[in-house]
Amino acid sequence: MTHEPARILAVDDEPINLALLSETLGSRYEVHTATSGTKALELARENPPDLLLLDVVMPEMDGYETLTRWKADERTRDIPVIFVTGRNAASDQIQGLSAGAVDYITKPFEMPVVLARMETHLTLKRKSDLLSKLASLDTLTEIGNRRSFDDCLRREWRRCLRAKESLSVGMIDIDGFKLFNDTYGHGAGDTCLREVAQALLTGLRREGDHVARYGGEEFAVILPVTPLEGAVTVAESLRTRVEALAIDHRTSPTGNIVTISVGVADAMPTSDLEPAALVAAADRELYRAKRAGRNRVCHASLVIANPAPATL
Ligand code: GH3
Ligand code: MG
Ligand code: MG
Repeated sequence: MTHEPARILAVDDEPINLALLSETLGSRYEVHTATSGTKALELARENPPDLLLLDVVMPEMDGYETLTRWKADERTRDIPVIFVTGRNAASDQIQGLSAGAVDYITKPFEMPVVLARMETHLTLKRKSDLLSKLASLDTLTEIGNRRSFDDCLRREWRRCLRAKESLSVGMIDIDGFKLFNDTYGHGAGDTCLREVAQALLTGLRREGDHVARYGGEEFAVILPVTPLEGAVTVAESLRTRVEALAIDHRTSPTGNIVTISVGVADAMPTSDLEPAALVAAADRELYRAKRAGRNRVCHASLVIANPAPATL
């Protein structure tokens, strides 16, 4: 199997050490360098590497402190860290490994040994990346599954809470899908689910928007930093896209092609609200859309039952 060259981030307060590493690793890997732990954390958050080579003794923030912060941030925590250091006492190695480094290499080192160890950890990283990708993918439609929806919702809820931005969710259900299966068979039903999923996926434009298969013939979208008005526009465009697929459905309750109903809700996340309340609100709107005749979008803002009294 061929791979893109792995991205390596090397951190050392001595530019000469970094130059040496860049030169020897550069022919195999995409190498990035930082002269302090703070810079490394910044770089990694923007553009995560596949592996971090970390010096221990550095002014300001040492390698242990850098590793602690690396592990505290969900954007970096799963990226393997190898210490490359002149400190070679057994106690140093134990401290480094128990802090969560995957390996500990002491200077002066033999480059082929470093490369072999790096390859081991890069292979493991590729495998675990693949596993987590598969764990969040729906096998039939190849879009995100329920688990990816739950993870994304939790993450975006926290992000919008910090940024004081609104977050919208859309719950989508195919109209008369039981009749579709009864009329055309389950194989055709599965093909229909795939086509609808792709139409939803390609209908979302903004980075950060997420679509998942929520259950059997139900889908869900997460639209971060999007108030209700924008979310309704997106939902309406998704509804039109599915209509435009023009999948025959001669027993449909809404006409003679496959259509969807969508329930949309938005909320301003607060620390005492649960993201599940937003999903429930969107679900209520979906139910209203069904009752009102299907093939439509219904929407509401999540109303907070007991808002805190405004302070003057
Ligand atoms: P409506 O939503 O318009 O009220 O009618 P519906 O017939 O779609 O009703 P409902 O959502 O209650 O029924 C879902 C049906 O979708 C049940 C089942 O026949 C079908 N279905 C659910 N999951 C799958 C799936 O994975 N594959 C296939 N082929 N069919 C599925
Ligand atoms: Mg359903
Ligand atoms: Mg349905």
